[in-house]
Amino acid sequence: MGEMIFLQPVFKEVLWGGDKLQTMFGYSIPSNHTGEGWMISAHPKGDCQITEGSYKGETLSWLWKNHRELFGGLDGEVFPLLVKIIDAKDHLSIQVHPDDAYAAVHENGALGKTECWYVLDCEPDSTIVVGHNAKTKEELKAMIAEKRWMDLIQIRPLHKGDFFQINPGTVHAIRGGSVILEIQQSSDITYRLYDYDRLQDGKPRELHLDKSIDVIRCPHEDAATESQAETGEGFTSTRLVSCPFYTVTKVHVSGTAVFSQNQPFQMISVFEGEGFFDKKPVKKGMNFLIPSGYGSYTVTGDLEFMVSSVN
Ligand code: ZN
Repeated sequence: MGEMIFLQPVFKEVLWGGDKLQTMFGYSIPSNHTGEGWMISAHPKGDCQITEGSYKGETLSWLWKNHRELFGGLDGEVFPLLVKIIDAKDHLSIQVHPDDAYAAVHENGALGKTECWYVLDCEPDSTIVVGHNAKTKEELKAMIAEKRWMDLIQIRPLHKGDFFQINPGTVHAIRGGSVILEIQQSSDITYRLYDYDRLQDGKPRELHLDKSIDVIRCPHEDAATESQAETGEGFTSTRLVSCPFYTVTKVHVSGTAVFSQNQPFQMISVFEGEGFFDKKPVKKGMNFLIPSGYGSYTVTGDLEFMVSSVN
C-alpha cells in the first residue's frame, strides 16, 4: 500500500519573480521576488525534503537512490522529472533548451529539457512566446545578427487554463503577469537568446547565441497536445500530452472518485479547490507523489489536479 510522499518546496528568488506563491497558495516565501517554487524536485540545485511519514527529513534524491522500489524500480541515475510553480511578475528571457543528445555532448552528460506549461492564472491581455518566424537556419542567424527580435519571436495571447508543450529546440518565454505550473525533465540547461536588454547588477545577463542557433529548430512547429475529455464516476479527466518523457493529465473531481496508481509513480499537483486524497486533506498549491504499488485511492471534494507520470 505505501504512503503518499509530501515535500517541502524549494523557492527561488529572481529579478522577474513576485509574491503569488504566497498570495495564491499560502506558501511562506523568501521575498516578493520569488519566481519559482520547485514543488517536486530531486535536482541538486533544489532537492525537496520529505515533510512527513517514514522518510521525514530525507530528500527526494535520497529516496530515489535508496528506495527505487517506490518508483517501480525504474533505471536512471537521477529522478527524471521536476514540477515547478512559476510566478512571472516580469518577463523571463527568450530561451531555448537542448535535447538529451545535445546536452549529453555539450553539457557534461546533463539531461536535455522538454517542458510543458499549464496556465494557472494570468492578467488580462497577457501573452507568451512560443516559436519563431525564421524559415531556415540562415534566416535565423541573420535575424539574430540584426537583432530583429520582435520579427523573430511568436508572441501569443494567453488565457487561464491554456496548455503548451515545449519541445527542445523551441524558442519560448513566459511573460510578465502569469502564474504557470511547469512539468519538465529534471534539467536546468537553458540557452538565453534575448533578455530585453535588461541589466542585472549593472550588467546584461550572459547570452548563449551560438548554442541557441545550434539547437533551435527551423522552421518552428507547434508540439502536439491533446484535449479529449473523459468522464467517469465523480470525475472528468483530460490527457493534455504524452511525450517520451512524461504524460500529463488534468483531472476534475466533484464528489467522490476512485483512481488506481498503476504507474512507476504519479506526481499530483492540486491547482484548484480542496478535498481529500484518501484521508489526507489537500488544497490548491499542494504537490506530492504517489509511489509504485500504492494501489487504488479515493479522492473526495471539489478540486482540480494534474497527474504526471513518466513514460
Ligand atoms: Zn524553458
